[in-house]
Amino acid sequence: MGTEKSVVIGSGPAGLTACIYAARANLNPLCFEGFNAGGLIPGGQLMFTTDVENYPGFPESVMGPAMMKAFRDQAERFGTRFVRDDVTEVDFAGPPFTIKSSEQTVSSHAVIVATGARANWLNLENEQRLAKSGGGVSACAVCDGAMPIYRDQHLVVIGGGDSAIEEGGYLTKFASKVYLVHRRDQLRASKAMQERFFKHVEQGKMEPVWNSVVVDVLGDQSVTGVRLRDVKTEAERDLPCKGLFLAIGHTPNTDLFQGRLATDDKGYLKLKEPGRTFTSVEGIFAAGDVADHVYRQAVTAAGSGCMAAIDAERWLAERGIE
Ligand code: NAP
Repeated sequence: MGTEKSVVIGSGPAGLTACIYAARANLNPLCFEGFNAGGLIPGGQLMFTTDVENYPGFPESVMGPAMMKAFRDQAERFGTRFVRDDVTEVDFAGPPFTIKSSEQTVSSHAVIVATGARANWLNLENEQRLAKSGGGVSACAVCDGAMPIYRDQHLVVIGGGDSAIEEGGYLTKFASKVYLVHRRDQLRASKAMQERFFKHVEQGKMEPVWNSVVVDVLGDQSVTGVRLRDVKTEAERDLPCKGLFLAIGHTPNTDLFQGRLATDDKGYLKLKEPGRTFTSVEGIFAAGDVADHVYRQAVTAAGSGCMAAIDAERWLAERGIE
């Protein structure tokens, strides 16, 4: 078994951009693009997105799956080889490092980890159906909130953390009213974000719905409302709205690396230096949402994939591998 120069794990914008740069730098990348690990499919979170309106270069917007196909075609054109399988085990005691999937075991001098993160969902049947069909359910207000269907409408955000306040605040630019549905009567968000929220409440742009959970999403083709349950009284009522945004946290796809790469208290990969892609193990680089709980955008993920490939190329060159 020969040793690869570079292996990329993951095939979202970060992983595929890393492949494009690694391939053009003669690192002959082998990409484990995944199969269904963590409920994702090759291409990552964008495969579940309809219109992508904020990726530069697409003035008329682009469908998430079409964009990821273009990324993959570009990576393939420069010689990336793909394995359509989930990585099941890694041994990072090297270099070289060992990467195993159900079908094969490979050894590589450098590895770029770009396994991403997944938004947490309530996993209600209608929530999933309308999220997949682009019918007004989303886990990313910054990605989808500016769509015309949400303009001057009542919208609902679920969550009580910084993301919920930030995403709800963003939605107030378009919506006539944003309801924040939270399962408790106290926010988890930081003090500064809470102040921002209560300012929006004073201005009538946002309204809290305390001690409540969404138990169903109403609407056939698109959202017409949500069914709420008061957690104290168990009483149920319907709240009309045209969009539902989940902001109940993300889960990084790092189970595979537990005990092998340093992670922070939320499970995201820890980087050795801010603004670089070095993980706690020399020769293993991280790109995209797996190490980023702040920006989480396709364009930032792609940018960090480029950075990881450049870091890997230089690291390999220092060891005479070119
Ligand atoms: P988070 O802090 O974990 O908050 C998640 C919120 O969702 C909590 O209020 C939680 O309720 C609620 N929740 C979780 N599961 C739920 C469920 N099944 N049903 C209903 N509600 C549920 O997540 P986050 O807001 O995404 O923030 C993640 C990290 O990023 C944090 O460290 C945050 O500070 C940071 N962040 C910072 C900024 C900023 O500074 N501008 C912006 C965004 C995120 P409970 O409170 O009851 O647990």
